[in-house]
Amino acid sequence: MNRFNPAGCERNELRKSFLSFHVPEIGEQDIAAVTQVLRSGWLTAGPRVKEFEDRFARYIGASNAVAVNSGTAALHLALEAAGVGAGDEVAVPTLTFAATAEVVVQLGARPILVDCSPDTLNLDPAALERAISSRCKAVIPVHFAGHPCDMDAIGEIARAHRLAVVEDAAHALPAKWRGRMIGTVGDLSCFSFYATKTITTGEGGMITTANPDWAERMRIMSLHGISKDAWKRYTAEGSWRYDIIAPGYKYNLTDIAAALGISQLARCDDFLRARLRCKEQYDQALRSEPAIETPVTRPGVEHAWHLYVIRIDPRQLRIGRDQIIELLKQRNIGAAVHFIPLHLHPYYRQTYGYQPADFPNASSASEQIISLPIYPRLTTSDIEDVVSAVTDIVREYRR
Ligand SMILES: *Cc1c(COP(=O)(O)O)cnc(C)c1O
Repeated sequence: MNRFNPAGCERNELRKSFLSFHVPEIGEQDIAAVTQVLRSGWLTAGPRVKEFEDRFARYIGASNAVAVNSGTAALHLALEAAGVGAGDEVAVPTLTFAATAEVVVQLGARPILVDCSPDTLNLDPAALERAISSRCKAVIPVHFAGHPCDMDAIGEIARAHRLAVVEDAAHALPAKWRGRMIGTVGDLSCFSFYATKTITTGEGGMITTANPDWAERMRIMSLHGISKDAWKRYTAEGSWRYDIIAPGYKYNLTDIAAALGISQLARCDDFLRARLRCKEQYDQALRSEPAIETPVTRPGVEHAWHLYVIRIDPRQLRIGRDQIIELLKQRNIGAAVHFIPLHLHPYYRQTYGYQPADFPNASSASEQIISLPIYPRLTTSDIEDVVSAVTDIVREYRR
């Protein structure tokens, strides 16, 4: 028996069906685009990947875009191109996904975890300043939930300490910092097209950069370290000859995935408008609830609203975040947590000796944050269901 029996609460009305935390927005145009590639006889990286890169670069306003098969691969190649290697340090926010720091370790470098600001949950520039040593080569700002980091403060610190700024922009398509598109602000920007992200290719990623040498390096390293448009070797233009210039990776995107990406990118702004409608409805309904804090948007940013993260106030409630998520599930509402900070995971605790007290803001946030569903397919009544479940629960368990 569950201790939190929703039958005990008469206001509980169960939704007929489970509301998934996320459903990708796949339309007939997406299916047609993928089918066309399947019929074309060319499946792997080819003309559709090139077209996706060109369209993405134009959409962002970046001079170079390199497509890869995941956001994680994007981060790995970006750091490699920026020259991160054995013995270096890279500053990474602790409140992020596994990918942001694991690629640092894979390059033989050490991730230096950094606490977040309490309002946006983004990398705190003051904590960054304190954390960097002379071995630090790069910083990876993660635009948490789609809210751009303070790129002025981070840029200033990066210039002073000669750090490359490699943005983890997995949540930030599309987002703007002081009128500039994310993807044109840092030295290299890494996007993800994972199934839950704002546009998807199933699995996929993209790096944008103004530096053509880095773009060339990432292209080469994404396909075995083979130089110069190796994919052309199977076309009329190409030749069978190839040169391996470094031991690279197998990170190229497929034309199947790129066709989906082209089709999704065309609706990126429509998807944002739909998420903004969800965000407005949540804000209206939840902002006056005393035990809940709705997400903050600082002046000067355009938020991508990839995630809608509320915070509960544990002083006002008799139950914790985990129990709230369990009760939401019993009311047929899917919710999630972004993220359990890296410093609380066994690998980072044991390898680097991090303690919860080293990151006070992330440590307390990590027990208070709940990500509510936010995606174009949600109807007004779906959001009403989420809102009434959340408010019923926090009112019932108020102290
Ligand atoms: C999704 C995500 C990634 C990794 O993207 P994949 O495409 O799944 O490899 C990296 N960083 C953050 C913050 C993410 O949310």
